[in-house]
Amino acid sequence: MSQLHGSLPAVGVFGGTFDPIHYGHLRSALELVERLQLRQLRLMPCAVPPHRDAPSCDAGHRAAMVELAVAGEPRLACDSRELARAGTSYTIDSLTELRSELGEDCSLSLVMGCDAVLEITTWHRWQELLDRAHVVVIARPGWQLPDSGPVAQWLREHRLLDSRELHRRACGSILVEELRPLAISSTEIRELLAAGRSARYLLPQVVLEYIQAHNLYQ
Ligand code: ATP
Repeated sequence: MSQLHGSLPAVGVFGGTFDPIHYGHLRSALELVERLQLRQLRLMPCAVPPHRDAPSCDAGHRAAMVELAVAGEPRLACDSRELARAGTSYTIDSLTELRSELGEDCSLSLVMGCDAVLEITTWHRWQELLDRAHVVVIARPGWQLPDSGPVAQWLREHRLLDSRELHRRACGSILVEELRPLAISSTEIRELLAAGRSARYLLPQVVLEYIQAHNLYQ
């Protein structure tokens, strides 16, 4: 599936817990759409994460907040496929579904932060991810990529230096993009809200209103 083509349409998928979604996710998503000339970037909330404790609020609420956050920006969308699948949400299963929906002549990029890349060898069937998609790593404040070990080797073997290459293949490459650093995390937002403090201006107001209306993170 990784033969070279002229210029393929490109779609991205950004997986996360989004508990809740915030401007760190949203700004990174939009910067990637513009920089990589993606037709669309789908934010895909994980229903049952394999690698962490159960999220604070259920997947339905987290997806609803993603929907609200991207409304009005046609280049971003919420992809709720993992909510519809029973059991643990494995990214490889979502990429397999996406690949069969998009066809083989579409460049598909899985977006993840450095924190996710550092743990990639613990992901279910991680070595097959590049058979379905490219991987785009967001360089994030406070995180550094390793220079030795299996992740470093994986990066060395597949890393692209020119983002235009993403449009020439459907899958199989890794790109590391440094984006505007926004030191915002969902953990901090949950802690602020639990302490009765304001999280305003760290996430869209419409998401904050949803949180208040549903008494989340108290
Ligand atoms: P938590 O604090 O609960 O771990 P989080 O803020 O890291 O959450 P996730 O939903 O776990 O958010 O993140 C989804 C993806 O978004 C991850 O790959 C993560 O690296 C990335 N990400 C999270 N926050 C930012 C940010 N401020 N800037 C860029 N990428 C981010």
